[in-house]
Amino acid sequence: MGVGRWLASRLASWPVYRQITGRDPLGRGRAAQSPRSAGLTARIADADRVAKSVCPFCAVGCAQRVYVSEDRVLQIEGDPDSPISRGRLCPKGSASTQLVTGPQRARKVLYRAPYGGQWRELDLDTAMDMVADRVLEARAKGWQDVDERGRRVRRTLGLASLGGATLDNEENYLIKKLFTALGALQIENQARI
Ligand code: SF4
Repeated sequence: MGVGRWLASRLASWPVYRQITGRDPLGRGRAAQSPRSAGLTARIADADRVAKSVCPFCAVGCAQRVYVSEDRVLQIEGDPDSPISRGRLCPKGSASTQLVTGPQRARKVLYRAPYGGQWRELDLDTAMDMVADRVLEARAKGWQDVDERGRRVRRTLGLASLGGATLDNEENYLIKKLFTALGALQIENQARI
């Protein structure tokens, strides 16, 4: 490489030179870009589709865009189309990719027996049967046809529901419907507490 070309390449690597000679006189774009920054790609660059969703963490319900490659969630961003959040997510919502992809996420049913010190894995069918058996037993044990003054109530005090904020509207609707049909009175959600 001749001295002239060497000098030109050295100058071109100097941001202020690019600022003076290029199309970025204010030095807010390419002129100030380091080689490392120039080599970066957006986390969503490899996404093959985008699904619309809603942040599950609180009752604000900020809208999200979920960027997916094959069956893998790459990134979750705020959705600018939302009149509620207009593309913004709080730090919790911005980290919701971890809710889906994090290694801490429990992917198997774990059961710890009463007074037991160890968790053991259960298959989902067995776990669902155990839940159903307990619900029916608690409902029957706490059932009241009439109250202490003889008024017909047909309710159970053996069951209650406390939902978490990661439940969405549709899930809460179904939970309310199910528990009311079972005769439960105490049906609450963490987002309202
Ligand atoms: S992004 Fe934050 S404020 Fe919006 S719904 Fe999620 S947790 Fe709530």
